[in-house]
Amino acid sequence: MTSPNFYPSVCPHDCPSVCALEVERRNDGRLGKVRGSLRNPFTAGVICAKVARYAERYHHPERLGHPLLRTGPKGSRQFKRISWEEALDRIAEAFLAVENRYGSEAIWPYWYAGTMGLVNRDGINRLTHAKRYSRFYSTICVTLADTGWRAGYGKRWGVPATEAGEHAELIVIWGCNPVSTHVNLMHHVAKAKKRGAPLVVVDPYRTPTAEQADLHLPIRPGTDGALACAIAHVLFEENLADLDYLARVSDTPIAELRAHFAERTPEWASRITGLSPELICSFARLYGSTKRSWIRLGFGFTRSRNGAAAMHAVSCLPVITGAWQHPGGGALYNMGDLYHWDKTLLEGLDLLDPSTRLLDQSRIGAILLGERDALGEGPPVKAMLIQSTNPMCVAPELAKVHKGFAREDLFVVVHEQFLTDTAAMADILLPATMFLEHDDIYQASCHSRIQIHKKIFEPYAECRSNHEVICALAKRLGAEHPGFSMSAWEILDDLLRRSGWPDAETVFQAGGWDAMPDADTAHFRNGFPTENGKFRFRPNWAAFGPQAAVMPRLPDHLPITEEVSAEYPFRLVAAPARQFLNTSFTETAASLAREGQPTALLAPETMAALGLRDGDRVRIGNARGVITVPVKARAGQHREVVVVESIWPNRFFAENIGVNALIGADPAPPAGGAAIHDTAVWLEPVCAQSRPERTERAAILAV
Ligand code: SF4
Repeated sequence: MTSPNFYPSVCPHDCPSVCALEVERRNDGRLGKVRGSLRNPFTAGVICAKVARYAERYHHPERLGHPLLRTGPKGSRQFKRISWEEALDRIAEAFLAVENRYGSEAIWPYWYAGTMGLVNRDGINRLTHAKRYSRFYSTICVTLADTGWRAGYGKRWGVPATEAGEHAELIVIWGCNPVSTHVNLMHHVAKAKKRGAPLVVVDPYRTPTAEQADLHLPIRPGTDGALACAIAHVLFEENLADLDYLARVSDTPIAELRAHFAERTPEWASRITGLSPELICSFARLYGSTKRSWIRLGFGFTRSRNGAAAMHAVSCLPVITGAWQHPGGGALYNMGDLYHWDKTLLEGLDLLDPSTRLLDQSRIGAILLGERDALGEGPPVKAMLIQSTNPMCVAPELAKVHKGFAREDLFVVVHEQFLTDTAAMADILLPATMFLEHDDIYQASCHSRIQIHKKIFEPYAECRSNHEVICALAKRLGAEHPGFSMSAWEILDDLLRRSGWPDAETVFQAGGWDAMPDADTAHFRNGFPTENGKFRFRPNWAAFGPQAAVMPRLPDHLPITEEVSAEYPFRLVAAPARQFLNTSFTETAASLAREGQPTALLAPETMAALGLRDGDRVRIGNARGVITVPVKARAGQHREVVVVESIWPNRFFAENIGVNALIGADPAPPAGGAAIHDTAVWLEPVCAQSRPERTERAAILAV
């Protein structure tokens, strides 16, 4: 139970945990403590430090409070205050002018996960559909992971972390760093560890999570599929595969699987992954001999051109050992399909015209520059409404994004909480509420609970919610749909009812609603949610996207990553920084102080080979761009690997452009998706006394 000044809430940030919170409203009306709640068993009273100190962000003196009109050149951060009426009128006038001259598809509403509240995040699509604006293809985060998981399993759910904490005898965290990114998972890992379950972490660098591991496999980025195949090889060769289970659930004859993996030996995988055959074998034996093994599959290892194939390969492992049959055994990637939302009203799906253009979120740079393969058929993008995202920092191919936003003929509206790098490019800047100031409903990927937040504070200054802005604009733009005249509460209530859940008040009063099915369903004991109930070792990739021809027939390493070469001897991983969440919290002094500055983490042997010491500055670059950062030695990563934890605002780099300038935006197969951690780069000291040429440096590293 919450005490008198504490109110139930839900963390709105882009994090798998979606924590249940208790929020203190002090007697002076200010936000006090924010703490984890026990009402959600996954949260279990644990939250991250950045949200625990939310008052700093909530009462930040630089929070936007009033609509602003640009008065100086784009990006100059020169604005003057205007009224909401004037702001909305100007936006409507500009959008209607673009629509009349170029057609409705010249307008591109652009959004993302600055809030994970479904009403305030997804409601913008109702305006898109009602006006037949260009639609938004979300690709920057989960597309590759989702595709790879669904390829085998059909739908996304798995064994909850709470169950793993109680029953698993081996925990594997593969390609994610929950200590930094969703810390409450570690509460359940700690419970398992206390019972004696070893923790294995597969990650290209020694993250804070890897530091807690009994075994860390510092894999070369983009080679996880090869590791998974070599593990499968050992499982079959050493009789650790559950052949009875496989005979029941596999879509592929066991003999065919055995023959396929026979060629993918630990020695083969060693050459690809950079891990020794002995390390691969010892992990495989540990995994294969522990029936109650539980894998947490992260997004990180899938943010590679071969990410969908890698996810599919890794996700096969608990099927081969039959871990799914046992309490605490199996895996968890994402609970997303348990919620079975019907978003017809929320997103205006009844108005969706599938012939309207779909534009790829990750390719915003190429789209704004009018590159035909990204823009598709139709007019150039001439106007944008941006909510809850900061593409001037977070999008790949950042140089193109910066150039695109600088276009004088592009009218940009940004609805934000702070003057971010994207907000600085706005023609009209609107102040947005924070989660404490509006109603919304949340789902999670790492647990199965539907949670509702009821407004606790009145909006700061003149801030308005995303929902309110969409409704106000719809009125001026002549867009018609019942959702534009409903409150956020009415919309979330409708969402619940039409999706088969209890009404909003019931869910709120109950402290949330668990969407978890019975244990047999969670463990796929009655079959997999595929067309024939079998697990698909042979996915029909063509059902997922247009680039299916390149995908492997059976689980495999797909060698399509940006590989090292004489010119580009390093591989860059732009992993999430612990004190930031995408670019949220980069405005708070406490987070900035804890992170310090953007830094390249290098293996000590790489530092020695290049004559570098901690604090020396290096340039890192490729054909897309260059950044300059100091370096720091970090043991426990491959000597080719460069890690720059992110996402820092552009001003923290000498070039005034962040690390995503180096990252490609080409859509990964089969269905698109950004390969954020798949980047080949060169690296050179800025001030070294004697600097060998880059190719010589590659030779040094190859020794
Ligand atoms: S761990 Fe994630 S969901 Fe929980 S409080 Fe922190 S950011 Fe929010």
